[in-house]
Amino acid sequence: MIISVASGKGGTGKTLVATSLALSLIDNYKVQLLDCDVEEPNANILLNLAMNQSQPVYIPVPRVDETKCTYCRKCAEVCAYNAIAVLKEKVLVFPELCHGCGACSYLCPESAITEEGREVGIIERGNSGNLELIQGRLAIGEAMAPPVIREVKKYITPANIVIIDVPPGTSCPVVEAVEGSDFCLLVTEPTPFGLNDLSLAVEVVRKLGIPCGVVINRVGIGDEEVEQYCHQEGIPVLLRIPLDRKVAMLYSKGIPLVGGMPQWREDFLKLFQDIKSISVAKWTAK
Ligand code: SF4
Ligand code: SF4
Repeated sequence: MIISVASGKGGTGKTLVATSLALSLIDNYKVQLLDCDVEEPNANILLNLAMNQSQPVYIPVPRVDETKCTYCRKCAEVCAYNAIAVLKEKVLVFPELCHGCGACSYLCPESAITEEGREVGIIERGNSGNLELIQGRLAIGEAMAPPVIREVKKYITPANIVIIDVPPGTSCPVVEAVEGSDFCLLVTEPTPFGLNDLSLAVEVVRKLGIPCGVVINRVGIGDEEVEQYCHQEGIPVLLRIPLDRKVAMLYSKGIPLVGGMPQWREDFLKLFQDIKSISVAKWTAK
């Protein structure tokens, strides 16, 4: 079962929820936590596992052999990202814009384009007992998160409980991370900003056809509008975490919620049971 944990905006407590859910399940299941927040993977600040395996992620970028090139411009015309430009007698490649789709080399009539790997990030892995953490880390200065996220997701073992810590926002990296999930948990806070970003995130998961539920973090900080929105939209609120000095202190010290306050473990186990019931009901109804 694959559960993605997302939020329309950063700083809502998404990683707090993902890590505590994972830790609550490891007594009974093999759990993989995939940190797909590749610009700033921070699940391991809370889990503190030794990451003992690491490998680079490459994307294929074009290399042009100008002795074969006729400057026909087909490669530039097909590139949706303006990563290749053809001048009168020169082909320019902009590797940082290239998405590695391979269209230019495929369509070059002179077979003048070969591909070479460009490192865009790394995958790191570590484990402890029933918990495995796989995290992607985008190279500094890189903007191409989806290939790193795709690489992290290749490690999914379907028999495990897989929890995906999704990047914040609603753009391409979010779609890449959430796609294929059985359920998406949306973490938000009860403020106008939280509501705005939650509604955008709901649109994305609905377009992907994935059942979702909400965790409201820092309950007490704002108003009731997130609750009202969820009620109107028929989205279940599955967990409420209060605005609590101790919760914040644990997080700031890098201690998982269920590590510092074990009484929360039962709440996360119930959260998991609710997710299972909702997703089984949704997928069987399809
Ligand atoms: S498609 Fe091939 S031959 Fe045409 S300009 Fe590009 S590299 Fe040169
Ligand atoms: S591989 Fe794709 S994105 Fe990269 S230059 Fe070629 S067509 Fe453009």
